[in-house]
Amino acid sequence: MNPGCQTASGTSLLSDAELLRYHRQINLKGWDLPGQEALKAARVLIIGLGGLGCAAAQYLAAAGVGQLTLLDGDKVEHSNLARQVLHQDDRVGHYKVHSAATALRALNPHLQLLALPEYADEVMLPGYLAEQDLVLDCTDHRASRELINLCCRAAGVPLVSGSAIRGEGQLSVFTWGQNEPCYHCLSRLFTEPDASCVVNGVLGPVVGMVGSLQALEALKLITGIGQPLCGELLLIDGLSLEFQRLRLPRDPECRVCGSVEHLLR
Ligand SMILES: [Zn+2]
Repeated sequence: MNPGCQTASGTSLLSDAELLRYHRQINLKGWDLPGQEALKAARVLIIGLGGLGCAAAQYLAAAGVGQLTLLDGDKVEHSNLARQVLHQDDRVGHYKVHSAATALRALNPHLQLLALPEYADEVMLPGYLAEQDLVLDCTDHRASRELINLCCRAAGVPLVSGSAIRGEGQLSVFTWGQNEPCYHCLSRLFTEPDASCVVNGVLGPVVGMVGSLQALEALKLITGIGQPLCGELLLIDGLSLEFQRLRLPRDPECRVCGSVEHLLR
């Protein structure tokens, strides 16, 4: 995390207004003042400001993450408004990152926001990752997910990945531990890796739940509270409300995180 949230005298850089605002979190056992200061020092990149990104961004902004960078080249459409809760009718046609930034600034004026109306690609993403402590993958295309996984692994930046379709959701956390799988290791097991919400539909509260869980995992990683879902896959069935947590093995021949010997072959 970005150091420097303490002055030389050890006094917190959180203002009185911030201490009051975040009081209920600071009172959490294991969070305390250092947790809130770590959050203020944190730089988080959210890729995708659709349903997942809207839910995740609003909780991270409200909780007091110091710097949020929003990355998405899409513009707001009417068909987004049933689930992408930071956008509204009068911002249809605007870039989603600008629409989201407007809502987030209103939610928390202490937040530093950078809105990038671009799609992630292999040229620019490594440069952006160099300045981030954590990435949330809130995209909805397999190719984007694979690219983000590859770049985060190369940069060693922790990744919280979420997805939702129909009434189902998935959540994973990758911190690049020695025996942890990466997204590519898991994606070979997915039965419908290219399924689309446009064709299959999606339930707003399910997307919101997964996005909220992404924010929760991000807060855990930043503050050190609780046990993040590192290297595991959470499957959510919103219609039956069944949750399944799977610890899946790393693929030793994965082209992203496999052994050096394999990658050099
Ligand atoms: Zn892998």
